[in-house]
This record gives sequence, structure tokens and C-alpha cells, in this order.
Amino acid sequence: MLQLKNPSLLRQQAYINGAWTGADGGATLAVTNPATGEQIGTVPVMGAAETRRAIEAANVAWPAWRKKPAAERARILRKWNDLILENTDDLALLMTAEQGKPLGESRGEVAYGASFIEWFGEEAKRVSGETLASPWPDRRILVTKEPIGVCAAITPWNFPIAMITRKAGPALAAGCPMVLKPAESTPYSALALAVLAERAGVPAGVFSVVTGKSKDIGGEMTSNPLVRKVSFTGSTAVGRLLMEQSAPTIKKLSLELGGNAPFIVFDDADLDAAVEGAIASKYRNAGQTCVCANRIYVQDGVYEAFAQKLVAAVGKLKVGNGVDEGVTQGPLIDEKAVQKVEQHVADALAKGGRLLLGGKRHELGHSFFQPTVIADVTSDMIVAREETFGPLAPLFRFQTDDDAIALANNTEFGLASYFYSRDVGRIWRVAEGLESGMVGVNTGLISTEAAPFGGVKQSGLGREGSHLGIEDYLVVKYICLGGI
Ligand code: ADP
Repeated sequence: MLQLKNPSLLRQQAYINGAWTGADGGATLAVTNPATGEQIGTVPVMGAAETRRAIEAANVAWPAWRKKPAAERARILRKWNDLILENTDDLALLMTAEQGKPLGESRGEVAYGASFIEWFGEEAKRVSGETLASPWPDRRILVTKEPIGVCAAITPWNFPIAMITRKAGPALAAGCPMVLKPAESTPYSALALAVLAERAGVPAGVFSVVTGKSKDIGGEMTSNPLVRKVSFTGSTAVGRLLMEQSAPTIKKLSLELGGNAPFIVFDDADLDAAVEGAIASKYRNAGQTCVCANRIYVQDGVYEAFAQKLVAAVGKLKVGNGVDEGVTQGPLIDEKAVQKVEQHVADALAKGGRLLLGGKRHELGHSFFQPTVIADVTSDMIVAREETFGPLAPLFRFQTDDDAIALANNTEFGLASYFYSRDVGRIWRVAEGLESGMVGVNTGLISTEAAPFGGVKQSGLGREGSHLGIEDYLVVKYICLGGI
């Protein structure tokens, strides 16, 4: 049993229209700890009917919420932020239990997650329109911005708090209510956020959390005409489906989908810094982030030196239960995730890859996997095309800058990319040449609430974070004022 300081944060019911509730039929779903296989508890299995009620409640709550002065919404969001931070220990423990990441990473995510609530609460006060030059002597052109309306959000398990707050923060700040469906494997972080939202004064119906069947809940969210916007973070396949399902009612969409991030190390790079960046980008969350380096391209002249240094650093990672002292890599989310890494490793080795480290399930069992490095990886291997979402670093070799850019762009994805160089001309050329929504130059960590996070190509639509993040939850209204 989880030892929380504030046990009321572990809720085994969903939260709809300000009430804690079970599923209509009473069905529940078990939530387990991936590090131990133990059951943490259950959550209701809800479907279309419960989702519809949450959407209708949001629509009822919308007018009063949007009419509140922005400063008042900001005060409630500030309170929510403060409560999240005050409960960091419990939220981190819950997150590590259901998701597996090391406690230190969970604590970092709680702070990162809260930062979106704080940031967008502040932004709420700065939603401004403009007056445009009019071609008419007797009419004026005014442009205002309004909340889009009821929003629905579907979030993944890899960041059980931050993927929610980066949607709920701007939605609520803009004056929109939100109905959320968290991932099946990590509902408790979402429900704990709802407990704190309620305590912060978020009115009933403005933030609801529906747990259960993704197809049924997603189907209702995308087809219900009251929902004006769907915000999704997850796989490209599901994003595509949600887009298709949203077409009949022409919903606005924010999609943060899969990535296949290239990480390029040029001859002139600071190799130690590049290794540090590669570790942070590749092995954080056991490789389960959409901005994780997925393909590491190393220039010929520094290939072996980089490989050696990387192997030495990866060898120091400590695999184990995320609550244990010193652990830097927890289990993968489930058995399916392990099988995918195994498949990528087997394919690379069968096609001539050279195993430098790891390559197997970890002796701890469950869904633990060894931190792995494979050299001599080539474009015909699965790792070149598909996101591994696990602790496998594949090292490709390249010769020229143009080759590196062409290889990096040879994917339908375009979320994050990274490269290491100290030449200012090369830095500009490569940063401009990479087809991705975000580029990390001489750094493996780019995420912050102050910057616009999002992708191009099939990595998605829209941006989360920064002043741009709130725009996704606003619509523009043009008012033509005549009779002057
Ligand atoms: P991942 O590989 O990260 O689990 P998914 O896209 O499968 O990516 O899952 C992300 C979120 O999308 C989760 O909350 C999941 O429950 C939800 N989801 C999966 N399939 C569907 C669907 N058909 N309709 C709506 N939501 C879905």
C-alpha cells in the first residue's frame, strides 16, 4: 500500500461535474505498479454515456467560467499550482508507483507540470486583441479573442502530470472548461490533480476526469458537437484516427504525436557535452519520451571516441524500482513496450549492428530492460524508421553535413532534433535545415513551459507552452464597427 502523507490524493473514482463517481455499470479496471507487478488499486471503466455527461456539465459551466475576470481565473490557477507543489512528495510517489520513472524524475515532473498552470494563469491576463487599419472612413476593424469552448483532452502515460497541465493550464486560463481522459495505466496522477483543482476553487464541470475505455470515451469526445476542440498527446496512429473522427464536426485540433528524433554529433563537437546530452535525451524516463533521441548520427572522425565515451556513461546507469535510492532507470511501462525494444535490438543485430552494451531484458524481471548501445547501425534497420520508446541508443555513421541533414530528415516525423557543434556557421545551416518543430543545439534538454513545444510533418499540430500555447484555446472574432 502506498504511504501517502495525504491519503486523500489517491482516488479510485472518476471526477465528473465536481462529483467523485463510479461507472454506470460499476465496472472497474486494475492499475498496477510496473516495477513490482502489484495492484495499486482500481478505477472506473466509463464509456460514452459518462463522457457525454461530463461534456454537458462542461458546457453548462462554461459561461460563468469565461465571464470571470482573467485575474480571478489566474488566482485559482495560482492556487492550483501552489497546491501541486505543496504535495510534491505524494504526487511523485503516486507517479513512480503507476508509471515507473525514478522518484527524482517524478519530482522534476511535478514541478514541470505545475509550471504550466502557473505560466498560463499569468498569460490569462494578457489575452489581447487588436485594432486594424480600416479601409473605410466610417467603419473600424476590431479583433478580439474568445475562449473556443468545451475542450476534450486525451493524454498518454509517459508524463502523467505534465501532459495534462500543459493542456488544462491554457484551456482554463483562456476561459474554456476541459474534460480529460488520462491513459489507462496512469489515472491516479490525473485524479490527484483533480482533487487539487477542486481544492483550489476550480468550479464543478470546469475540469472533469473520465477514466475507462479509450475508444468509447474518445468516440464521444470527437463526435459530440458541444466539444469545440480536442487536444491529444500520443501516437500518430491514434492522432490520425481522432482527426478523422473529428472531421464531421470540424473541431479544432492540437496533436502532439510521435517523434523519431535525430541526435547529430559533428566532428567539432565537445564530445563530453554530447555524451551528457545524449544520456539526458535518450535515457530519461527509460527512453519513453516523444522527444527522446531515437537515431544518433556520429561523424566519421569522432565515431569510435564518442561510442566509447557513451558506453562508459551508459554503463553507470542504475536500473531498479524508481523508489529506491540511486536508481536512474525504472521499468518500461509494460510487456508490449519491452517486446518492441527487443524487436528493434534483434533486427539491428541481425542486419549487422554491433552490440556495445546491454541488449537484453534486465535480470530484475517484470518490464525492466538493460540500457543498450548498438554501433554500426544503418538506414535499413527498423530503428531508423520507428520510435523505439525504450533505452536503446543506435549509433549511425555519417560523413558530410549534407548527409547528416538528409538522413535526419528522412522520416515522416518532425518533433525534436538535436545536434552538437561549435561552429557558428554550421549551427545556423543545420538548425535551419532540420525539419522539426524543435531543435536542441548543444543541449539534450529543451522542454520548458516558456517555449513552444510541438512538431511539424506527422508529429502534429499546434504548440504547447509559451505565449503561443494559449492561442490554441482561443478563437478570433472580427467586429466591424460602423456608423461612425
Ligand atoms: P501510447 O503508445 O503512448 O500508449 P496511444 O496513442 O496508444 O499512445 O495512447 C495515448 C492516449 O490515447 C491514451 O490515453 C490512450 O488511452 C488513448 N487512446 C488509444 N487509442 C484510442 C482511441 N482509439 N481513441 C481515443 N483515445 C485512444
